[in-house]
Parts: sequence; structure tokens; C-alpha cells
Amino acid sequence: MIVINGGYHEGGGQIVRTAVGLSALTGKEIRIDNIRAKRPKPGLSFQHVCAVNAVAQMCSARTKGVFVGSKSMEFLPGKYAGLKKIKVKIPTAGSIGLVLQPLIIAALGVKEKIIIEIEGGASFGKWAPPVTYIQNVFCRAISAFGCDVKVEVLRHGFYPKGGGLTHVEIDMRDLKRADLVSFCENAGVSGVSVASHDLERRDVARRQARSAKKIIHDAGVFERAPIDTRYVNSVSAGSGIVLRIGGNMFLGASSVGEVGKRAEDVGGDAAFELIEEYKMKACVDKYLCDQLIPFLAICGGSIKTSEITKHTETNIWVVEKFMELAFCVNIENKIVSLRT
Ligand code: ATP
Repeated sequence: MIVINGGYHEGGGQIVRTAVGLSALTGKEIRIDNIRAKRPKPGLSFQHVCAVNAVAQMCSARTKGVFVGSKSMEFLPGKYAGLKKIKVKIPTAGSIGLVLQPLIIAALGVKEKIIIEIEGGASFGKWAPPVTYIQNVFCRAISAFGCDVKVEVLRHGFYPKGGGLTHVEIDMRDLKRADLVSFCENAGVSGVSVASHDLERRDVARRQARSAKKIIHDAGVFERAPIDTRYVNSVSAGSGIVLRIGGNMFLGASSVGEVGKRAEDVGGDAAFELIEEYKMKACVDKYLCDQLIPFLAICGGSIKTSEITKHTETNIWVVEKFMELAFCVNIENKIVSLRT
């Protein structure tokens, strides 16, 4: 059994998600202690319990200690259950993007199409990838590794009730090596600005988009920034924006509406973050880099990112516990690759 210290380095929920995804993928049993020891409320939160149970369903795993607040858990994977459709319920405003993370890692070992339906959860939330980011940045990047993952938002979910509805189709049959290292000066920016219908009379989605466009234009880097503006049905009121730089780069930035935060500041925060990412002349943004580490391990290749974060270092540490390989991190050039 692989024993993992859940309080290592970044010490957050990512250790749990990556370890459980890799356990299902490799068939190796794990115990995780000190779960989320570096978070203000240590232990598993609802989001982690949903994610672990969903992966357990997928690979017929036995689990111990998987409950809210648990600081130690075991995951004993079985064989892929052959389920063509996996149904996941998130009864809170837990992040849909984070619940998806370990499921997609586990699916790397499945050589047939899988459908995942996620009922509930939030499509936009703080400290987590919005589902729109997963669609436009993460899924585009993993498609370079041959991972065909399509995410459809049937209903958005916002804090406090969540209530999203998400349909995901996964096909991992054509995995291949990818080198995500090149930067291109002439790439275009685009985005999606979303708000619930009850925020339409305050013009929230359009104000977020207008503010982001103005900041991007004034920075003088891009002439145009087309941002799709949408008003959507949802259980709780809420808003958010996701921007991305395309071409052969995978740079994203996002921001979430909050009570007391002006729509202009929501759009502005995402725009400033995107401009900072662009200035670093990388190919992969700092959040995406940690999320791609398991894909790099399985498929091979290299990544040039804007910042080597603690999340990236921690994910490398977790992956190296499962696989006979070592990563090479070039701190100066911010390139992560596999040591040959
Ligand atoms: P919490 O902070 O709720 O306890 P956690 O401990 O489960 O969450 P972390 O270990 O902090 O989670 O991992 C957060 C994950 O979310 C990382 O993979 C990180 O890259 C990703 N992430 C955080 N913010 C963003 C963002 N704005 N855009 C894209 N990805 C993000």
C-alpha cells in the first residue's frame, strides 16, 4: 500500500484528488493521512467525498474513512466497473471542475467511451477551475495528449446552492505525447461572461465583459477581445467570467462574482490576470500546469508554464509515488518534462 502524507507542501485537496485518480488508474492501494492539513478546515470536505466516491464507483473500489472532516482515508481500487455512464451527485456548491479532476485522471486507463453526468455543484467558484475554464482551456490542452473530453453545461451552478447540471463524454483511446512549449505573439483572446437571469436587469454579464475588453484593449497587447455574453437559468444567483488566449497556447484566467463586488471588477480581475499570464511568454498558465502533471506522466512530453507553483511541485511528488519515472523541472525556464 502506498502511504501518502496529505499535508505535504501545498497540503490541500489536490493531493487527495490526484492520488485517488492515479490509484484507480494504476490499481495500487493507497492510504492518505493528514488530509488537507494546510487548509483552515483540514480533512475531507463534501467536494472531496463526492469526488472519491465517484472514482470508487468507476473502479469498484473499497474505501475507508471517506466522510466529511476525515483526516485519514484508504482507497483500495478494483477493476474498471464497465459502467458506460457514471452518475455523480454534488448536493452542495462544491466545485464541479474539481470533482471532475480525479475522474478524468482515472479514465486515462479506460479504453472505451465513458459518459459522466454530474447533478448539482457549482460551475463557478473561488479557488477552483470554473467549468467554462475546464471546457475552453483544460480540455483543449489535454486534447493535445489525445484525450477527447467534451464537457457540456446544461445548467450553471453558483454559491450557495450549486444546482449545476453537467454532461461529460470521455474517450481516451488515442493517447499521444505532447510538447506544450511554444509561445505565439499573434494569438487571439476570447472569453465567456455568464450571469444568472436575475442579474440581467443590472446588466452584470455585459458589464463584466465590457470591463475586461477595455482593460485588454488599453493594455495594447490585443486589438480585439470577443467575449460571448450569456444570461442563464440557475438555482442561486451568480456570475463569472473566463478569458483565454488561444492559438497553440493554453492560457486562461477567470473571476467569480461576489456580493459587494462590482461587475466591472470581476471582469477587470480576469483581464489583469490574463495580461500577466501573456507577459510571461509561456504556453500553459500556472493553474493548468499542475492539472496537466498526470497527463504528462502517462503520455510523455513537456510543458512551459508561467509559474512553477506549489500545486505543481506537489502534484509531481504525488505522481512520482505511483510511477517509475522522474520529472525534470527547469526552474529558470519554467519547463516541466520527464527525465529520460
Ligand atoms: P480548497 O481550497 O477548497 O480546500 P482543495 O484543497 O480541494 O480546495 P487545492 O489543493 O487547493 O484544492 O487545488 C485546487 C485546484 O484548483 C488546483 O488544481 C488549481 O490549479 C485549481 N485552480 C484553483 N484556482 C483556479 C483558477 N482560477 N483557474 C483554474 N484552476 C484553478
